[in-house]
Amino acid sequence: MHHGYAKSIASLERAKRSLAGGVSSNVRAGDKPFPLYFERGMGSKLWDVDGNEYIDFVLGRGPLFLGHTHAGVIEATCKQLQMGQIYAAQHELEIELAERVCRIVPCADLVRFGISGSEAVHGALRLARAATGRKTVIKFEGQYHGWLDNILYSLGPDPTRAGEWDHPRTLAESPGQFDGEESHVVVLPWNHLPTLEQYLDQHRGEIAAVITEPVMCNTAVIPPLPGFLEGMRELCTKHDVVLIFDEVITGFRLSLAGAQGRFGIKPDLTIFGKAIANGMPISCLAGIEKYMRLIAAGKVGHGGTYNSIPPAVAGAIATLDALEQDEHAAYAAADRAGLALVDGLRGLAKKLNLPLVVQGYGVIFYLGFPKQGVALHEGQAITDYRTSLTMDQDLYSAFVSDIVGRGVRIIPRGNWFLSSAHTDDDVAATLEAAEAALIEVVVPAY
Ligand code: PMP
Repeated sequence: MHHGYAKSIASLERAKRSLAGGVSSNVRAGDKPFPLYFERGMGSKLWDVDGNEYIDFVLGRGPLFLGHTHAGVIEATCKQLQMGQIYAAQHELEIELAERVCRIVPCADLVRFGISGSEAVHGALRLARAATGRKTVIKFEGQYHGWLDNILYSLGPDPTRAGEWDHPRTLAESPGQFDGEESHVVVLPWNHLPTLEQYLDQHRGEIAAVITEPVMCNTAVIPPLPGFLEGMRELCTKHDVVLIFDEVITGFRLSLAGAQGRFGIKPDLTIFGKAIANGMPISCLAGIEKYMRLIAAGKVGHGGTYNSIPPAVAGAIATLDALEQDEHAAYAAADRAGLALVDGLRGLAKKLNLPLVVQGYGVIFYLGFPKQGVALHEGQAITDYRTSLTMDQDLYSAFVSDIVGRGVRIIPRGNWFLSSAHTDDDVAATLEAAEAALIEVVVPAY
């Protein structure tokens, strides 16, 4: 039985009087049906202040690969909290974590820890520019690398303003972003090697770095087309350009060694956050010695009061312990639940005769509904940002509002996160709710 949202509604009203917009991140303002208030999470479940229970596929927007309130992570974090919160000095746990990451991650010769993914991205871009003495960075349309000034470009641009690919335009996402900085960031289409090749050829000696999500998780969970990442690797090597994999979502999720482990491609620098510590705030900038030595030597600036904060480091080590346990059984569990959902959703599409798009992986996948008149045939995938615009975002939002009311919490952008805590029962209950929400909201739209 649904208990309504009365307490959440009242809390949001109260919050708006002191907390800007009632939320702590602009992204949360877009939650459906509106920003709800939660008071408890455990395993795959979350409870809101009105007593409604949810099967959670948001999972902190990625961190909770082992589910909410994982016993090992909580225990390790609490144990460290009792030994002190912050020393502003070295501690042995940070060495242990650094050694673990260097052992697990192909490109990690050296690492530095921070708090957020955004600041680790900032560090990677600075390092790439310092190492190459070049200014320009290439990013891809529809990809997100954090909210900081020098990279918050062309996440969700209007294609009529973004231009054609022979004259790409870099569009700031927010008023107040430093004017002029966009001239040092070039935006190209993802999954299209010839455009990247041509750009690098025409701008030899100008490009410091190519930064990419190795799977485009922030738009439609788009897998790399065969050969795309390999080709990108070869081009960056050929042009002596720093290849940065932003693995904030894919890291410790797509495999223990992230996307670079899963696809067998070694970037020069990489960024982790989220799943590395199952909910504790920590990020990691890692890379090959050739570049990281500039930070090691103190030449390139990197700092932060909370870097390597002991409770988060302890949480990260406990997370890696759990991820490595029983031959990576956590990955098999999350993948199994995710693939069962993917299969189930595809089955519902057939049963209800709906043109659903379901793509990605078990551990993270995308669900979308094509706009009216857009004939995506069965099995057809979204391969870049512009094809993702064929999806009906308003219809998806209405679906999310409905399914949240049925006890399934999902992100309005279409990506579903899985954890090792999701069970067969969760999958069955989710598919039941999905069928009801599809019949209620989506069937009438086609
Ligand atoms: N890079 C990617 C790929 C992300 O998905 C995110 C956050 N969703 C970030 C960077 C920024 O990380 P944070 O929110 O921790 O600053």
